[in-house]
Amino acid sequence: MSAALAILKDVFGYHAFRGRQAEIIEHVAEGGDCLVLMPTGGGKSLCYQIPALLRQRAGHGVGIVVSPLIALMQDQVAALTEAGVRAAVLNSTLTGAEASAVERDLLAGRLEILYVAPERLMTPRFQDLLDRTRVGLFAIDEAHCVSQWGHDFRPEYIQLSVLHERFPQVPRIALTATADDVTRQEIVERLALHDARVFLSSFDRPNIRYRIVEKDNARQQLLAFIKAEHMAADGTHDSGIVYCLSRRKVEETADWLRGHGINALPYHAGMDAAVRQQHQARFRDEEGLVMVATIAFGMGIDKPDVRFVAHLDLPKSMEGYYQETGRAGRDGLPANAWMAYGLGDVVQQKRMIDESEADETHKRVSSAKLDALLGLCETAGCRRVRILAYFGESSEPCGNCDTCLEPPATWDGTREAQMALSCVYRTAQASRVHFGATHLIDVLRGNATEKIRQWGHDKVSTFGIGADRSVSEWHAIFRQLIAHGLLVIDHGGHGALLLGESARAVLKGETSITLRRQVSKPARGERGERGGAGRGNRVDHTAQMDEQQLANWEALRRWRTETAREHGVPAYVIFHDATLAELARSAPDSMAELAEVPGIGAAKLERYGDELLEVLQKA
Ligand code: ADP
Ligand code: ZN
Repeated sequence: MSAALAILKDVFGYHAFRGRQAEIIEHVAEGGDCLVLMPTGGGKSLCYQIPALLRQRAGHGVGIVVSPLIALMQDQVAALTEAGVRAAVLNSTLTGAEASAVERDLLAGRLEILYVAPERLMTPRFQDLLDRTRVGLFAIDEAHCVSQWGHDFRPEYIQLSVLHERFPQVPRIALTATADDVTRQEIVERLALHDARVFLSSFDRPNIRYRIVEKDNARQQLLAFIKAEHMAADGTHDSGIVYCLSRRKVEETADWLRGHGINALPYHAGMDAAVRQQHQARFRDEEGLVMVATIAFGMGIDKPDVRFVAHLDLPKSMEGYYQETGRAGRDGLPANAWMAYGLGDVVQQKRMIDESEADETHKRVSSAKLDALLGLCETAGCRRVRILAYFGESSEPCGNCDTCLEPPATWDGTREAQMALSCVYRTAQASRVHFGATHLIDVLRGNATEKIRQWGHDKVSTFGIGADRSVSEWHAIFRQLIAHGLLVIDHGGHGALLLGESARAVLKGETSITLRRQVSKPARGERGERGGAGRGNRVDHTAQMDEQQLANWEALRRWRTETAREHGVPAYVIFHDATLAELARSAPDSMAELAEVPGIGAAKLERYGDELLEVLQKA
């Protein structure tokens, strides 16, 4: 293990392994197969990069990494090259000549790590290359891409089991951040990893603060959130991602945010490919950009300092939510996951499931996944406990989510639940069709709309019995009744509500219902969110710095920007913010002191040491 630690320090500049990294590295370096389940930001890359280096240096040959995303591969190779590793990539972005050069290096044994796209790996040409090369290990990143249930399914991944048949003696390490049991089984099955050791880490991301607010005016709420928590006094703001469901909404939201002083860019699959790529590169390379995107954006984004992920629409599933929010705070520093959601989102997602081409089983699974997410949105308990429980982990209330920080009050909503349920029953009985929440709330509040008169619902016994509650209160009640399974959204896409199985017991007064009290609305506009959960989660590297340290910080950042530009890599590939902040604070004045700063490995020390000392001296 001391050899692994030496590489950790020399190449990557880190002082200690995280979580189960050490165990995994030892297992693979000794030639064992394994499946690694670790959350985003947990540090999966080192789990194969270090064994690859160890095995290559011990004469076993090059480490081959299969990765589904071109952008991700390129970032990884850039970072490895910066750290002095002989790494290369083979994918469709290379010219014929470039690819030939990589192939020559491979055959000559000059490479330590080679990243390959799955479709290329399986070509006869590459298989032939493999036959003529010594291979030290195969790493299969994003291994959940073999799963047909997941949204990242890649048909080429299924063929990867061939690796095992053709190279039985070469250890394989498969990695994923998708934790659920079904996916895990599928990976084991399809990649023939039955004898592999499974390393399961906790999926908790303790540095992420989860918050889910009721949708009121979602854009305004988002703006208030960014201003309150991610904007400095001078108007600059953190990097973040805002997810929306539709392309149009992405465009509109990005425009609107730009009009309100936020440096925002759109990203979705319908955009011109060149523009899209340019936006992605800017997000990666620049500081303080907000990317407004559909879920087409994300896989392959390993920017470490994304400080927030916001959802303006409900994701499809807990898996989706967790994967998307997981893109915040990979560097381990505080980050926010913020979502605004309303009943309309649930109805919309439900409609998308119903209208999809999928078969009935798939639709049923999708509906169940949506329900689990709805449960998270409506819980009065700790969000994290709920999320982790979904992934099969039990935990204690976290103290770092909205419901922990500001426990919502609950109330006995039995009477209101009965009103709502019997309104569903009565209107359906009167008209032989079912209705959506908006109409039902009009009936309950005695709002004699044209539609109500047309259907004769001003004559049903529940007309006007809930007039003392506001529309938004009723919305909250309906959402929770759905989350509790007392109401079910009908197939057919109109958001019509049916009675759930357990509704009868409530109607008969056999069970009582506890509801979460609606949180009073935050003031609109500039004032931001209320205190409590809304405060004190901003990462400010300069918070405690004196004047000299601030001058160091500014000088170091200017140096980093220039250097990154010269090398054609993102700034964080040169050094993370945390490393720069530590440099600014401790202002080392010798190579020996520099080497002690986390994030400065041997290669970077040699390459940048003199420059850093000079920058610090002049600052
Ligand atoms: P994952 O692929 O699991 O999402 P990464 O491999 O990208 O995570 O690692 C996330 C971040 O954590 C990276 O910035 C990486 O440099 C950092 N990291 C990983 N392992 C360590 C460690 N042992 N010490 C310090 N930082 C680490
Ligand atoms: Zn909590």
